[in-house]
Amino acid sequence: MSRIAYVNGRYVAHGEAQIHIEDRGYQFADGIYEVAAIFRGQIIDEDGHLERMKRSLGELRMDMPMPEEPFRLVCRETLRRNRVRDGIIYIQVSRGVSPRDHPFPKDVKPALVMTARAVAWPENADDDKGAEVATVADIRWLRRDVKSISLLPNILAKQEAREKSAYEAWFVDGDGFVTEGSSTNAWIVDDQGRIVTRQLDNNILGGITRATVLKLARENSIEIIERAFTVEEALAAPEAFLTSTTSFIKGIVGIDGAEVGDGKPGPVTRRLRALYLDYCRGSGSNLA
Ligand code: PMP
Repeated sequence: MSRIAYVNGRYVAHGEAQIHIEDRGYQFADGIYEVAAIFRGQIIDEDGHLERMKRSLGELRMDMPMPEEPFRLVCRETLRRNRVRDGIIYIQVSRGVSPRDHPFPKDVKPALVMTARAVAWPENADDDKGAEVATVADIRWLRRDVKSISLLPNILAKQEAREKSAYEAWFVDGDGFVTEGSSTNAWIVDDQGRIVTRQLDNNILGGITRATVLKLARENSIEIIERAFTVEEALAAPEAFLTSTTSFIKGIVGIDGAEVGDGKPGPVTRRLRALYLDYCRGSGSNLA
Protein backbone atom coordinates (compact mmCIF):
# COMPACT_ATOMS: atom_id res chain seq x y z
CA MET A 1 0.00 0.00 0.00
CA SER A 2 1.36 3.43 -0.87
CA ARG A 3 2.14 5.76 1.99
CA ILE A 4 0.81 9.29 2.12
CA ALA A 5 2.39 12.28 3.85
CA TYR A 6 0.75 15.53 4.84
CA VAL A 7 2.94 18.48 3.82
CA ASN A 8 1.81 22.07 4.32
CA GLY A 9 -1.82 21.61 3.41
CA ARG A 10 -1.52 18.77 0.90
CA TYR A 11 -1.61 14.99 1.05
CA VAL A 12 1.16 13.67 -1.18
CA ALA A 13 2.78 10.34 -2.00
CA HIS A 14 5.33 9.72 0.76
CA GLY A 15 8.18 9.09 -1.69
CA GLU A 16 7.50 12.37 -3.47
CA ALA A 17 6.91 14.56 -0.43
CA GLN A 18 9.21 17.58 -0.39
CA ILE A 19 10.01 20.60 1.70
CA HIS A 20 11.79 23.76 0.63
CA ILE A 21 15.60 23.89 0.99
CA GLU A 22 15.19 27.07 3.01
CA ASP A 23 12.81 25.53 5.50
CA ARG A 24 14.26 26.61 8.84
CA GLY A 25 13.77 23.10 10.20
CA TYR A 26 16.14 21.84 7.51
CA GLN A 27 18.69 24.64 7.89
CA PHE A 28 18.63 25.42 11.61
CA ALA A 29 16.68 22.56 13.25
CA ASP A 30 14.34 25.45 14.13
CA GLY A 31 11.30 23.38 14.96
CA ILE A 32 9.63 20.83 17.17
CA TYR A 33 8.06 17.42 16.76
CA GLU A 34 5.74 14.91 18.37
CA VAL A 35 5.30 11.16 18.03
CA ALA A 36 2.10 9.49 19.21
CA ALA A 37 1.24 5.80 19.21
CA ILE A 38 -1.90 4.40 17.60
CA PHE A 39 -3.02 1.23 19.33
CA ARG A 40 -5.99 -0.77 17.97
CA GLY A 41 -7.28 2.36 16.30
CA GLN A 42 -6.86 4.66 19.31
CA ILE A 43 -4.47 7.60 19.49
CA ILE A 44 -2.82 7.01 22.87
CA ASP A 45 -2.69 10.14 25.05
CA GLU A 46 -3.68 12.43 22.19
CA ASP A 47 -4.42 15.36 24.53
CA GLY A 48 -1.07 14.97 26.32
CA HIS A 49 0.84 15.02 23.04
CA LEU A 50 -1.10 18.05 21.84
CA GLU A 51 -0.46 19.90 25.10
CA ARG A 52 3.27 19.12 24.97
CA MET A 53 3.39 20.22 21.34
CA LYS A 54 1.77 23.55 22.20
CA ARG A 55 4.21 23.98 25.07
CA SER A 56 7.26 23.22 22.87
CA LEU A 57 5.98 25.69 20.27
CA GLY A 58 5.40 28.32 22.94
CA GLU A 59 8.92 27.91 24.33
CA LEU A 60 10.30 28.57 20.82
CA ARG A 61 7.85 31.48 20.40
CA MET A 62 6.08 29.74 17.53
CA ASP A 63 2.34 29.49 16.83
CA MET A 64 0.27 26.38 16.28
CA PRO A 65 0.31 25.77 12.52
CA MET A 66 -3.51 25.65 12.56
CA PRO A 67 -6.28 25.68 15.18
CA GLU A 68 -6.61 22.60 17.36
CA GLU A 69 -9.77 21.09 15.83
CA PRO A 70 -8.58 21.04 12.19
CA PHE A 71 -5.21 19.88 13.47
CA ARG A 72 -6.82 16.82 15.07
CA LEU A 73 -8.72 16.19 11.83
CA VAL A 74 -5.49 16.28 9.78
CA CYS A 75 -3.95 13.73 12.20
CA ARG A 76 -6.93 11.44 11.68
CA GLU A 77 -6.95 11.92 7.92
CA THR A 78 -3.21 11.13 7.72
CA LEU A 79 -3.81 7.95 9.73
CA ARG A 80 -6.85 7.03 7.63
CA ARG A 81 -5.05 7.54 4.32
CA ASN A 82 -2.23 5.31 5.57
CA ARG A 83 -4.68 2.78 7.05
CA VAL A 84 -2.83 2.80 10.35
CA ARG A 85 -4.63 1.08 13.21
CA ASP A 86 -1.46 0.06 15.04
CA GLY A 87 1.48 2.36 14.50
CA ILE A 88 2.75 5.87 14.95
CA ILE A 89 2.06 9.36 13.73
CA TYR A 90 5.00 11.75 13.39
CA ILE A 91 4.28 15.46 13.48
CA GLN A 92 6.86 18.15 12.78
CA VAL A 93 6.44 21.91 12.87
CA SER A 94 9.20 24.24 11.77
CA ARG A 95 9.26 28.04 11.89
CA GLY A 96 8.74 28.07 8.14
CA VAL A 97 10.51 28.96 4.91
CA SER A 98 12.62 32.09 4.65
CA PRO A 99 16.04 33.17 3.25
CA ARG A 100 18.68 31.85 5.63
CA ASP A 101 19.26 34.33 8.46
CA HIS A 102 19.37 33.60 12.17
CA PRO A 103 16.73 36.01 13.56
CA PHE A 104 13.08 34.99 13.34
CA PRO A 105 11.70 35.96 9.92
CA LYS A 106 8.67 38.26 9.88
CA ASP A 107 5.28 37.13 8.59
CA VAL A 108 6.29 33.54 7.94
CA LYS A 109 3.83 30.71 8.47
CA PRO A 110 5.00 27.64 10.38
CA ALA A 111 5.49 24.56 8.20
CA LEU A 112 3.66 21.37 9.17
CA VAL A 113 4.52 17.82 8.12
CA MET A 114 2.85 14.59 9.25
CA THR A 115 3.69 11.00 8.41
CA ALA A 116 2.22 7.76 9.71
CA ARG A 117 3.34 4.17 9.60
CA ALA A 118 2.24 0.82 10.89
CA VAL A 119 4.03 -0.80 13.85
CA ALA A 120 3.23 -4.21 15.33
CA TRP A 121 2.90 -3.45 19.05
CA PRO A 122 3.56 -5.99 21.80
CA GLU A 123 0.60 -8.13 22.78
CA ASN A 124 1.27 -8.77 26.43
CA ALA A 125 3.39 -7.91 29.41
CA ASP A 126 5.53 -11.02 29.34
CA ASP A 127 6.96 -10.67 25.84
CA ASP A 128 9.59 -8.18 27.03
CA LYS A 129 13.04 -9.74 27.18
CA GLY A 130 14.54 -6.54 28.55
CA ALA A 131 17.13 -4.20 27.13
CA GLU A 132 20.73 -3.27 27.72
CA VAL A 133 21.75 0.37 28.10
CA ALA A 134 25.13 2.04 27.63
CA THR A 135 25.97 5.22 29.51
CA VAL A 136 27.18 8.34 27.70
CA ALA A 137 28.00 11.88 28.85
CA ASP A 138 25.03 14.23 28.55
CA ILE A 139 26.38 16.89 26.20
CA ARG A 140 23.00 18.38 25.26
CA TRP A 141 21.70 21.94 25.59
CA LEU A 142 19.89 22.98 28.74
CA ARG A 143 16.35 23.06 27.31
CA ARG A 144 15.77 19.35 27.05
CA ASP A 145 12.17 19.93 28.14
CA VAL A 146 11.51 21.26 24.61
CA LYS A 147 10.85 18.51 22.07
CA SER A 148 13.11 20.13 19.51
CA ILE A 149 14.01 18.45 16.21
CA SER A 150 17.65 19.23 17.02
CA LEU A 151 18.66 15.69 18.01
CA LEU A 152 22.36 15.43 17.17
CA PRO A 153 23.55 14.43 20.68
CA ASN A 154 20.68 11.95 20.88
CA ILE A 155 21.53 10.22 17.62
CA LEU A 156 25.23 10.13 18.45
CA ALA A 157 24.37 8.60 21.82
CA LYS A 158 22.00 6.03 20.30
CA GLN A 159 24.58 5.10 17.70
CA GLU A 160 27.25 4.64 20.37
CA ALA A 161 24.85 2.42 22.31
CA ARG A 162 24.02 0.32 19.24
CA GLU A 163 27.72 -0.10 18.45
CA LYS A 164 28.02 -1.54 21.95
CA SER A 165 25.05 -3.83 21.22
CA ALA A 166 22.89 -1.88 23.66
CA TYR A 167 19.29 -0.92 22.89
CA GLU A 168 19.43 2.51 24.47
CA ALA A 169 21.92 5.10 25.72
CA TRP A 170 21.55 6.61 29.17
CA PHE A 171 22.71 10.21 29.40
CA VAL A 172 24.69 10.91 32.58
CA ASP A 173 25.19 14.48 33.85
CA GLY A 174 28.41 15.95 35.27
CA ASP A 175 27.54 14.77 38.80
CA GLY A 176 27.04 11.14 37.82
CA PHE A 177 23.23 11.31 37.76
CA VAL A 178 21.23 9.74 34.96
CA THR A 179 19.15 12.35 33.15
CA GLU A 180 17.22 10.17 30.66
CA GLY A 181 17.70 7.91 27.66
CA SER A 182 18.42 9.20 24.16
CA SER A 183 14.72 8.72 23.32
CA THR A 184 13.25 7.35 26.54
CA ASN A 185 12.79 8.26 30.21
CA ALA A 186 14.84 6.37 32.80
CA TRP A 187 13.54 4.62 35.93
CA ILE A 188 14.67 2.34 38.72
CA VAL A 189 12.80 0.41 41.38
CA ASP A 190 14.26 0.74 44.87
CA ASP A 191 14.59 -2.04 47.45
CA GLN A 192 11.20 -1.10 48.89
CA GLY A 193 9.43 -1.50 45.56
CA ARG A 194 9.10 2.25 44.98
CA ILE A 195 9.58 3.56 41.46
CA VAL A 196 12.15 6.33 41.05
CA THR A 197 12.41 8.68 38.09
CA ARG A 198 14.03 12.05 37.64
CA GLN A 199 11.91 15.09 38.49
CA LEU A 200 10.66 17.27 35.66
CA ASP A 201 12.73 20.33 34.90
CA ASN A 202 14.78 21.60 31.96
CA ASN A 203 17.15 18.61 32.21
CA ILE A 204 14.76 16.06 30.71
CA LEU A 205 11.84 15.78 28.33
CA GLY A 206 8.52 15.38 30.09
CA GLY A 207 7.62 12.02 28.55
CA ILE A 208 3.94 11.42 27.88
CA THR A 209 4.46 7.74 28.72
CA ARG A 210 6.24 8.84 31.92
CA ALA A 211 3.16 10.86 32.93
CA THR A 212 0.80 7.97 32.18
CA VAL A 213 2.97 5.47 34.06
CA LEU A 214 2.99 7.80 37.09
CA LYS A 215 -0.81 8.05 36.90
CA LEU A 216 -1.18 4.26 36.64
CA ALA A 217 1.25 3.79 39.55
CA ARG A 218 -0.76 6.21 41.72
CA GLU A 219 -4.01 4.46 40.87
CA ASN A 220 -2.47 1.12 41.79
CA SER A 221 -0.81 2.19 45.04
CA ILE A 222 2.73 1.88 43.72
CA GLU A 223 4.84 4.45 45.53
CA ILE A 224 6.65 7.06 43.44
CA ILE A 225 9.74 9.12 44.11
CA GLU A 226 10.67 11.82 41.61
CA ARG A 227 14.39 12.45 42.03
CA ALA A 228 17.66 11.93 40.20
CA PHE A 229 19.58 8.65 40.66
CA THR A 230 23.15 7.68 39.84
CA VAL A 231 24.40 4.86 37.61
CA GLU A 232 25.78 3.11 40.74
CA GLU A 233 22.35 3.26 42.35
CA ALA A 234 20.76 1.80 39.22
CA LEU A 235 23.32 -1.02 39.18
CA ALA A 236 22.48 -1.85 42.79
CA ALA A 237 18.70 -1.55 42.25
CA PRO A 238 16.52 -4.65 41.98
CA GLU A 239 14.99 -3.34 38.75
CA ALA A 240 15.39 -0.64 36.14
CA PHE A 241 13.22 0.18 33.16
CA LEU A 242 12.60 2.75 30.44
CA THR A 243 9.48 4.33 29.02
CA SER A 244 8.54 5.98 25.73
CA THR A 245 5.76 6.22 23.19
CA THR A 246 7.33 3.57 20.96
CA SER A 247 9.05 1.36 23.56
CA PHE A 248 6.12 1.45 26.03
CA ILE A 249 7.71 0.05 29.20
CA LYS A 250 10.80 -2.07 28.82
CA GLY A 251 12.90 -3.70 31.48
CA ILE A 252 16.58 -2.77 31.65
CA VAL A 253 18.62 -5.85 32.34
CA GLY A 254 22.14 -4.52 31.90
CA ILE A 255 24.08 -1.26 32.19
CA ASP A 256 27.45 -1.04 30.44
CA GLY A 257 27.60 -4.83 30.41
CA ALA A 258 26.85 -5.28 34.15
CA GLU A 259 23.65 -7.08 35.10
CA VAL A 260 20.73 -5.28 36.73
CA GLY A 261 18.76 -7.34 39.27
CA ASP A 262 18.67 -10.94 38.14
CA GLY A 263 19.16 -10.03 34.50
CA LYS A 264 15.46 -10.27 33.62
CA PRO A 265 12.67 -7.65 33.69
CA GLY A 266 11.50 -7.58 37.30
CA PRO A 267 8.03 -7.89 38.85
CA VAL A 268 7.31 -4.17 39.27
CA THR A 269 8.36 -3.50 35.66
CA ARG A 270 6.20 -6.37 34.41
CA ARG A 271 3.24 -5.19 36.44
CA LEU A 272 3.53 -1.64 35.12
CA ARG A 273 3.90 -2.95 31.57
CA ALA A 274 0.70 -4.98 31.99
CA LEU A 275 -1.12 -1.94 33.42
CA TYR A 276 0.13 0.21 30.55
CA LEU A 277 -0.97 -2.31 27.89
CA ASP A 278 -4.40 -2.49 29.54
CA TYR A 279 -4.52 1.30 29.51
CA CYS A 280 -3.69 1.32 25.77
CA ARG A 281 -6.37 -1.26 25.05
CA GLY A 282 -9.00 0.66 26.92
CA SER A 283 -8.35 4.33 26.36
CA GLY A 284 -7.16 7.01 24.02
CA SER A 285 -9.09 8.95 21.41
CA ASN A 286 -11.11 6.99 18.91
CA LEU A 287 -10.14 7.44 15.28
CA ALA A 288 -13.61 6.70 13.97
N1 PMP B 1 13.22 11.57 26.46
C1 PMP B 1 13.60 11.85 25.20
C2 PMP B 1 14.90 12.57 24.97
C3 PMP B 1 12.80 11.47 24.11
O1 PMP B 1 13.16 11.76 22.85
C4 PMP B 1 11.60 10.75 24.36
C5 PMP B 1 10.75 10.29 23.21
N2 PMP B 1 10.00 11.32 22.71
C6 PMP B 1 11.24 10.49 25.69
C7 PMP B 1 12.08 10.91 26.71
C8 PMP B 1 9.97 9.76 26.01
O2 PMP B 1 8.86 10.58 25.76
P1 PMP B 1 7.45 9.97 25.36
O3 PMP B 1 7.04 9.06 26.47
O4 PMP B 1 6.57 11.17 25.25
O5 PMP B 1 7.63 9.26 24.07
